[in-house]
This record gives sequence, structure tokens and C-alpha cells, in this order.
Amino acid sequence: MMYDFTIIGGGIVGLSVGMEISRRYPNASILLVDKEPKLSLHQTGRNSGVIHSGIYYKPGSLKAELARKGNEQMALFCQEHGIEHEICGKVIVATNEAELPLLENLHNRGVENQLQVERISEGELKTIEPHVNGIGAIRVPSTGIVNYRQVAEVFAELIKQNGGEIALNTEVEDIDIKDESVEVRTNQGVFKSRYLINCSGLLSDRVAKMANIKTDMKIVPFRGEYYELKPEKRHLVKHLIYPVPNPDFPFLGVHFTRMTDGRILLGPNAVLSFKREGYNKTDIHLKDMIETLTYPGFIRLAGQNMSEGLKEMVRSYSKRAFIKDVQRFIPEIEVSDIQPSKAGVRAQALGPKGNLLDDFVIIQHKRTVHVCNAPSPAATASIEIGKKIVNYFEEHTSSMAGV
Ligand SMILES: Cc1cc2nc3c(=O)[nH]c(=O)nc-3n(C[C@H](O)[C@H](O)[C@H](O)COP(=O)(O)OP(=O)(O)OC[C@H]3O[C@@H](n4cnc5c(N)ncnc54)[C@H](O)[C@@H]3O)c2cc1C
Repeated sequence: MMYDFTIIGGGIVGLSVGMEISRRYPNASILLVDKEPKLSLHQTGRNSGVIHSGIYYKPGSLKAELARKGNEQMALFCQEHGIEHEICGKVIVATNEAELPLLENLHNRGVENQLQVERISEGELKTIEPHVNGIGAIRVPSTGIVNYRQVAEVFAELIKQNGGEIALNTEVEDIDIKDESVEVRTNQGVFKSRYLINCSGLLSDRVAKMANIKTDMKIVPFRGEYYELKPEKRHLVKHLIYPVPNPDFPFLGVHFTRMTDGRILLGPNAVLSFKREGYNKTDIHLKDMIETLTYPGFIRLAGQNMSEGLKEMVRSYSKRAFIKDVQRFIPEIEVSDIQPSKAGVRAQALGPKGNLLDDFVIIQHKRTVHVCNAPSPAATASIEIGKKIVNYFEEHTSSMAGV
């Protein structure tokens, strides 16, 4: 059988692409494969569950555009399909004078990104988050919370309702691009299709390489570990509380996140993982580890940011070091109030000069599209990423009319 589209990856990005194809081309035959026995077992099922606003991203970047539109679309989608979510807003809090200019820059960036953002005083902050110490803050009303695994399940249902097939336990091992088709070799046999989309998250660079896509970037896995507030202390956090980001590493710093099930997560941190899909501190995969440690981009990144990296390692191993950061915002939280919780691994693409690739990277080549960098906020932006990818096919592929 010849499918119209094969999609690799049953995370939220691959499923969104499948949903958008089946919406736009109801007659198209779609095969979505994932190597795992269930959908969304990796980044999609292990994230913070925040519907981001898009405030942090460089104006004009794909991230800024797709996060802003994606935020609106995600909220609408959840309403339409009865998925539990809440647009509860978040505060970004400065705890010392040195952070105030950065807070101001961030506010300006939010305005440039066409967001409704509000500078609020210490007093106003106390009315929103009574237990938080801060000398100034930004309120971002459009930020929300959702369980992305539930969203991904609905995307999958819509694909199946339109006749699309989802094959689990199906690992892609090689790809052969021919003039008129693409052949995907898996542990379950060979599948043929007219077009291919690679949304394989933490393994996206390796899958792209199978299709002869030559890039000099590499996915470097950073594990994000969370603590959780004990139930009797949940009242200390009302909504979402974020630090003023370090412009070089915006994902660092303690985040306080309320989940849709009422739990309060603290984290994630960012420590190098020696296994791409490894969620425990002791997880090591020799190939993954050697590939990262010998990659020139990683060697440069590590050399330039040794002290920041070491601090994150200390916070990962020492609950006391972690709690110091927490108490900067909420002094009432004690070491005994938090317990270790889940972990996720970010697929972060790194360039050969040690530069973390900030924007989403989507590469189109012949009959294939490869999502090569889709870190946060790609879950928020997933509906828009799906549309963008299907647009590429429409714009660049003359034979789409036949689908
Ligand atoms: C700790 C953490 C917190 C985050 N918080 C947020 C947040 O609050 N809000 C937000 O918007 N974003 C957040 N993100 C980012 C978001 O989760 C990801 O950007 C998004 O889930 C990426 O989705 P994906 O489909 O590209 O990847 P994934 O969900 O990782 O899916 C990729 C899939 O490809 C499959 N696959 C890989 N290789 C193969 C192969 N060879 N054959 C078959 N299948 C294969 C995998 O099994 C996997 O299921 C966070 C990420 C992390 C790690």
C-alpha cells in the first residue's frame, strides 16, 4: 500500500501535523508511527503543562509568532473539545534591584510581541500571590495550564476518525527517498508513502540523518527534574510564578507551576542527560553520552558555561541548594515541604559553535519535512506548527493537488 503521508513521532507535534493533514485533506491516507507502546511517552507527556504566552521570544521569530497564535488556538481547541484547562495567568517576579531593568526589557518585549502584559507593583503582586516576595513583577494574563497528554489523545482521535492509522511499537530504522515516494524501514516492515514528516523529538537529528539531511546541529538532551509541594502547602502558590529569566538561559531558575490536577510543581532544572530518553540521574546510554561529549558544540558550550552548569548539578543533587532558590520567592517553604517528582528531557538543538538554537527549526527537503528543533513552547504552539508544516507542502509541492 502507498500512503499519502507517513509521520514519524506520536508526540504532540507529530499528532498535530496528522490532525491538520486530515482536516485539510480528508481523503489523504495517513500513517503515523511511534516506537513506543503508547503515545506521548516522552516530552509531550513529561512537561510542565503550561500554555505559554510567547513573551520571552525574539520578536519576528517563529517561536514568537507560533507561541502567540498557538496559545489562542490551544485555549480554543480545549474549549471546543471539553479538555480541562485554565487560563490562570502568570507573574514574572523580580526579587532584587538588579533584575528590574531585565524585567523592564521583558515587558517591552511582551508589548513588541503584541501581548497584553502589565507591570505590577509589590502590593499588586501580593493580591495575586500573597506568599511571594518580590519588588516588582509582570502579569501575563494569557498564560494557562493544561495536560498536554490529554490534548495529544484528542489529536490522535481526530486522525483516526478521519481514517488515519496510528502504528505503535513501530521504530523507524532507515529512510530511502526515491523520486516518486519515500520508503521507511521499521522493525515492523517497510512502509511507502508520497511524503514524510519527521517529528521524532529527542531523536529528530538522527532520523533526519537517515533521510540524508545534512545539518551541523545536534540534539543535546537536558533533563528537567521537578519537586512537588506537599498537599498541605499547596495554598502557598495560587497560579504560576516565574523568575526573571537569565537572557542567555531563559529556561533556568525555579518555576512554580500549578497543574490541572491541583499539584504544584517546582522546577524543572536543566542538567545534562547521558541518555536522550533517560529520566533518572543514573541513566546512561553509551552512544548518546559519547556523541554529546565529543560534539564540538557541546565542548564549547560546556567550556563557556562551566559555572552555570555546575550550579545546576549542585541544585539537582542537593535539596538544600534547591530550596534556597525557592525561598528567594516564598520564604515559608521549608526543605521538608517538597518531595521529588517527575522528570522530563528537553530536546535542545545545539550548533557547532556551542550556540543553543533558540528558534524552532523546520527543514524541508524534497518530499520530506523535518522538525529538528522543537523545544518549549512547542506544545503550546503545536497546532500552529502543524499548520505551518502542511503549508510548506502546499507551497512547495506541486503534486499536492493529487492528494
Ligand atoms: C521538562 C519539560 C518541560 C516543558 N514544559 C513545557 C510547557 O510547559 N509548555 C510547552 O509548551 N512546552 C513545554 N515543553 C516542551 C514540549 O513538551 C515539547 O516541545 C513538545 O512536547 C515536543 O513535542 P514532540 O512531538 O516534538 O516530541 P515528543 O513528545 O518527544 O515526541 C517525539 C516522539 O517521537 C518518537 N520517536 C522518536 N524516534 C523515533 C523513531 N526512530 N521511530 C518511531 N518513533 C520515534 C518518540 O517515541 C516520541 O513519542 C517542555 C519540555 C520538557 C522536557
